[in-house]
Amino acid sequence: MAKTASNRKKPTVLKRHPRSVVQRKNTTIPISVFGNVMKQFNAAARKLKLDKSLLEFIKMPRRSTIVKLPVRMDDGSYRMFTGYRVQHSIARGPAKGGIRYHPDVTLDEVQALASWMTWKCAVVNIPFGGGKGGIICDPQKLSEGELERLTRRYVADLIDLFGPDVDIPAPDVGTGPKVMSWFMDTYSMKDSRVIPGVVTGKPVTLGGSRGRPEATGRGVMISTREAAGHLGLDLSNSTASVQGFGNVGSVSALLLHELGVKFTHISDVTGAIYDPEGIDVQALAQHVKKTKSVVGFPDVKQIRPKDILYAKVDILIPAALENQITQANAHRVRCRIIAEGANGPTTPEADRILQRNGVMVIPDILCNAGGVTVSYFEWVQNRVGYFWTEEEVNRRLEEKMVAAFHDVLKMALDNRTSMRIGAFMVAITRVIDVVQMRGIYS
Ligand code: NAD
Repeated sequence: MAKTASNRKKPTVLKRHPRSVVQRKNTTIPISVFGNVMKQFNAAARKLKLDKSLLEFIKMPRRSTIVKLPVRMDDGSYRMFTGYRVQHSIARGPAKGGIRYHPDVTLDEVQALASWMTWKCAVVNIPFGGGKGGIICDPQKLSEGELERLTRRYVADLIDLFGPDVDIPAPDVGTGPKVMSWFMDTYSMKDSRVIPGVVTGKPVTLGGSRGRPEATGRGVMISTREAAGHLGLDLSNSTASVQGFGNVGSVSALLLHELGVKFTHISDVTGAIYDPEGIDVQALAQHVKKTKSVVGFPDVKQIRPKDILYAKVDILIPAALENQITQANAHRVRCRIIAEGANGPTTPEADRILQRNGVMVIPDILCNAGGVTVSYFEWVQNRVGYFWTEEEVNRRLEEKMVAAFHDVLKMALDNRTSMRIGAFMVAITRVIDVVQMRGIYS
């Protein structure tokens, strides 16, 4: 249906699905995640006043690939899957970014995640560009054998795109060390030798880095701690809620809990729980390991999952998926700090409302950059063939995250803008510097 000038002016967001769609008069338009990245980029670019043609060159993905993947299922039938790999930028180094297995994966989402990787790697100043991949599938509904065949077929079909100097995948939602092991093995078969540096997030015995599984959550903890220091918030006297108690959400909660933060609200895809006295996050992590759900944890109240975002707490950690805090619900958010463990949980429209309301948002491209930072450490260790202790990894991560946080904070304060726009300004400046030095081959 054609958009009219009148319905462009007054978007209202559907109450039933605030995460993914905007309802305009007589039509429903999905929120484009890549469109959100473009808005963030453009807002920062306007402040930087750089050469428009260079900005145009660095903002669009350089290569997007779609593959059809036939996979033999356990019952002997064949099923077709769709896979994506997007290389957004290789200006500062090989494309770097995870592979997502989820039923809602789209090219739009993968392009957005790939571009965020470019800006994230630049914010923490590591020599990588940005990439991302995904397969439309529900890993919970596939057997281990089906997942292995799907992964190997994906790698085999896209094998020319990958390589330790070209494009280095990693885990994301729905994938983990096991998928990375199959990835490394399939890629290594091509050359009949072990090539561990083609992928990060491997098990330690296959060349993975110590500290990688906790790295993203550790980065969230470090940036939240720095933000609290800046705002004068005493963490040992503060409360928090977390949406998504997977890898990122659970480790963030465990590490912040060690600094004295009391977690009163926690949710995952199955439900949400509440305890005004503070949830025992360590015991909850054990419970989730056993039951795959936060629901059923003893001595807490069940609450509506969406109320997690509106809890009256000091710190909110969205650690699930994109487009959670939108124009429709941002005014209901009551925390002082949002630490974006997830990629893209806040839309640009919501950002404006939060800024008006004095909420400090630590943007994803800074807050959750601990994961890719330790992926970089893993890649370095693979190339050198010498492995660091966990203390060494954590010490170097601390250094990188603290430096990145203060680079972004300074940029934001100097330009009287939000941390998100500050982070994009830092990142764009670093990418443009490299592009200008290299020149554009044409
Ligand atoms: P995960 O699969 O381990 O955990 C995801 C969690 O979110 C699970 O607890 C799941 O139940 C929950 N969830 C899913 N849909 C939900 C919903 N609608 N409401 C509430 N909870 C929901 O994934 P992860 O690795 O922790 O990744 C989470 C987010 O962090 C993603 O946005 C991912 O891109 C981002 N991220 C992950 C890493 C990493 O190293 N794992 C690094 C950077 C960013």
